Amino acid sequence: MNTETIKQLDKQFYMNTFGERIPVSFTKGEGIKLYDDEGNEYFDFLAGIAVNSVGHSHPVMVNALKEQVENLIHVSNYYYIDNQALLAEKISKNSCADKVFFANSGAEANEGAIKLARIYHYKKGNEKTEIITLTNSFHGRTLATVAATGQEKFSAPYHPLMEKFIYVPINDINAFKEKVSEKTCAVMIEMIQGESGVHEVEESYIQEVYKICKENDIIFICDEVQTGMGRTGKLFAYEHFGVEPDIFTLAKALGGGVPIGAVCAKDFVADAFSPGDHGSTFGGNPLATRAGLAVFEIFEKENLVEKSKTNGEYFKEKLIALSEKYSIIKEVRGKGLMIGVEFKEAIAPEIKHDLFERKYLAGATATTLRILPPLTVTIEEIDGFLAVFEEILKEK
Ligand code: PLP
Repeated sequence: MNTETIKQLDKQFYMNTFGERIPVSFTKGEGIKLYDDEGNEYFDFLAGIAVNSVGHSHPVMVNALKEQVENLIHVSNYYYIDNQALLAEKISKNSCADKVFFANSGAEANEGAIKLARIYHYKKGNEKTEIITLTNSFHGRTLATVAATGQEKFSAPYHPLMEKFIYVPINDINAFKEKVSEKTCAVMIEMIQGESGVHEVEESYIQEVYKICKENDIIFICDEVQTGMGRTGKLFAYEHFGVEPDIFTLAKALGGGVPIGAVCAKDFVADAFSPGDHGSTFGGNPLATRAGLAVFEIFEKENLVEKSKTNGEYFKEKLIALSEKYSIIKEVRGKGLMIGVEFKEAIAPEIKHDLFERKYLAGATATTLRILPPLTVTIEEIDGFLAVFEEILKEK
């Protein structure tokens, strides 16, 4: 089916939540490359918005999923599930979490985290219900997570919102201290804000926030939906900041493209969930958790977390060199392979379009180009991006 036919069907039958999409439909992927219905080759420096961490159609993933599909796709959580238990073990052994619960998306994982923080205090008999999040954060599209998201544009049509979310500006410790009270239940933070344009928290800020949380029985939640699974050059972004969250959430890269989410928590808070308090029909099913296990296997075999760090540093250095040469670039930000290039004007969508014309895919806010390649990206592929990007910069 060609793109024009798909576009017509989409227009007629799909709810118009995505508006005019980029006019291409991909039929095949391999590594960083995607191919459209006419066989054109593209370089995917967006990776399904930080999802395809092991690239497209990685043979280990393909074989694992083929084998799983042939045996068992779904059974329900009434029964014990081997892959679910094994993936929970993997996450737990590689992080500060003791226990894991699987959901189906980032928003759903964050919902689970919010519920867990609330039930923790409920069961202790504490009247602590307020959750502090950051302005310009993004935590998802469900009703609780749009309320958690500190951006009016996502929540305005959905009032009345779920109550008791309080927003504070990033890296402003005094603003944070002003809002903390005996009613504070939890703090939920992205260590690097992705959706709003790659904004990093400062280490000193996070350490102070963390200290206040520990002193006041406030649950410290990291939303690692985008930063998790090696994206920032560590397996989890919290590792850069010398803190251990009580709860962190994962999704995106964990399944390498198969939908999955995870609420990961320390025992003292995870224990607040008793049978019946939370659940999911699909969450942690044999197929999704097999994908998660394949992702871990590939990460270990190919040393992808270390690669994300070193290749990310190389990429960022080269982009900083370009920023010194081309004055339209204001700043280059990010860690590992989560990189933002901010322009002095709101031209990032135009740059994204120019890249697309040259068969390179990236993301954009108004002023910031978002670069999130698969963690398998090679130096040669990074150089390819840089050459095309410089060609575009020269024209501006
Ligand atoms: N949290 C963060 C930090 C995200 O970047 C996103 C998605 O972009 C979400 C939550 C929501 O994830 P999902 O779209 O899988 O519900």
